[in-house]
Amino acid sequence: MAGKRIGVLGGTFDPIHIGHLRGALEVAEQLAFDELRLIPSARPPHRDTPRVSAQQRLDMVARAVQGVAPLRVDDRELKRERPSYSIETLESLRAELDAEDRLFLILGWDAFCGLPGWHRWEELLEHCHILVLQRPDADSEAPEALRDLLAARSVGDPQALNGASGQIAFVWQTPLAVSATQIRKALGEGRSVRFLVPDAVLAYIQANDLYRAPC
Ligand code: ATP
Repeated sequence: MAGKRIGVLGGTFDPIHIGHLRGALEVAEQLAFDELRLIPSARPPHRDTPRVSAQQRLDMVARAVQGVAPLRVDDRELKRERPSYSIETLESLRAELDAEDRLFLILGWDAFCGLPGWHRWEELLEHCHILVLQRPDADSEAPEALRDLLAARSVGDPQALNGASGQIAFVWQTPLAVSATQIRKALGEGRSVRFLVPDAVLAYIQANDLYRAPC
């Protein structure tokens, strides 16, 4: 029997917004995922400390994906004491899966360009395929360090990704120029973020008085 197809979207989700959710859903449909795990980073190694706690960011993701198959929240990075390295997350997922299951790591273009700075980044493709989401604000070229990798590993059609791991494909999605930075700023200035985040996330932000102080 063919294995499961599982997408993985890590992020700070500070807070989760419709850019993440539409991107996740569209890629899940295009690639026929059995599940797509959204994995909040507890201690993101490459950026400033998030504005709200890991538990609150996890709670918001859980509310955002409730009842939205095949999206699921995955709390494994909150259970580790160490920085949230993607390679360790993939290793821990792989340890739970069957050999024929396929893992697809979904990265926005900006995240993909930063890959050469990641802990043990060259091992990532041993565990998964990489899907790069094209984002509206992405107009830069891939960094030098990624050119050889792209030449060797990228395939033109994401449907043509073969085997359990090892290849890279680009996925186009409906552009939504939304960022968590913009949402935090609006909230800090007392403006509405209605329709930029799901209503359940907005209710959580209001109930817990999050992002009120100006950034
Ligand atoms: P911030 O503004 O705080 O940097 P962000 O909105 O970029 O946050 P992250 O949690 O850092 O959100 O993003 C997680 C992943 O989702 C990254 O791979 C990022 O590229 C991607 N992503 C974020 N916003 C969008 C969007 N509007 N469309 C597509 N992908 C997105």
